Amino acid sequence: MKKTADAIGTFGESTTLTCPQCGKDVNMKVLRSSNGIGLFGVSVYNYKHDLFTICPECCALFNVDADVSKDLAKGTDHLFLDIPAESLTFQQILPLKG
Ligand SMILES: [Zn+2]
Repeated sequence: MKKTADAIGTFGESTTLTCPQCGKDVNMKVLRSSNGIGLFGVSVYNYKHDLFTICPECCALFNVDADVSKDLAKGTDHLFLDIPAESLTFQQILPLKG
């Protein structure tokens, strides 16, 4: 199975923001945990957050601040989600490359 963010179901995509981990300007993939997806052996339930982002450059996984997640989840347009870099909390680097 190809291990891409697409394969596990994306919620949407962020507007361009600067990745707190690698410092590059990227459009992050946004994932939602409420459908019970497991991220490459990582159980997102353990984090108790709604939305996650993945940097396409460094494959860092971030969770999104709960208040920001709530607002984003209300919207119907999941493209170009406005996620402030300050609302991201680094979790880990996902083994996506290679
Ligand atoms: Zn990055």
